[in-house]
Amino acid sequence: RDRAREILQSASRRETNRLGVEAMDLLDAYGIPTPQGAVVDSPGEAAAVAEEIGEEVVMKIVSPDILHKSDIGGVEVGVPPEEVRDTYEDLVVRARNYQSDATILGVQVQEMVDLDSGTETILGMNRDPQFGPLLLFGLGGIFVEVLEDTTVRVAPVSEPEAREMLDDIESAPLLQGARGRDPVDETALVETVQRLSQLVTDFPAIVELDINPLVATPDGVQAVDLRLTLD
Ligand code: ADP
Ligand code: MG
Repeated sequence: RDRAREILQSASRRETNRLGVEAMDLLDAYGIPTPQGAVVDSPGEAAAVAEEIGEEVVMKIVSPDILHKSDIGGVEVGVPPEEVRDTYEDLVVRARNYQSDATILGVQVQEMVDLDSGTETILGMNRDPQFGPLLLFGLGGIFVEVLEDTTVRVAPVSEPEAREMLDDIESAPLLQGARGRDPVDETALVETVQRLSQLVTDFPAIVELDINPLVATPDGVQAVDLRLTLD
């Protein structure tokens, strides 16, 4: 919790109240698994991180002014090592084309997550003035807007409540292994819902938070993207 507090304090010293993947450590601090990776601010450092990861990587622009990174071409999936430096420059150019005065913190270089064996879910929180922190769980990725298959509980949630959320959504069979797919690791998913519940309970300054996607696979979960707003 102390680590999380430090991360939030250093963030609140910036001029923006919006945080993105540069705050992934916050999830780490609460035991929510994130893919290996780092936010860097030069092509050389990006190449070094990619080399450490040792295979194709995902690269994302990191800017408080860009909320939907892929909408502006700010996410490149499957970047081979030899293209990391050029991709860094490309991502910055695209961000500048989108908004010339955008604050650019750098680029995140991230390990690839296997989406084929996983299901993209969304796990989020919205602080309601009346009810307090509302946890939202549902199908994520591109489906979140289309299907609107989500369920909501007031945090903090108990283990049975978290488990109930998974069963609540219409796409629940997808998580349980429909059409010959292996079921996702439900225990890890339940644990993650509870860990986020704890995080937003501990830090009332977080008014809004979205992990989208939270990729659920048979072997566990990975928080692939994060955005949050502080008050
Ligand atoms: P944004 O939501 O701002 O566009 P994301 O980080 O969510 O940015 O990336 C957009 C999409 O790219 C994700 O929904 C996912 O399908 C894919 N993606 C992002 N990161 C990874 C990763 N590490 N491994 C595999 N696919 C990824
Ligand atoms: Mg996203």
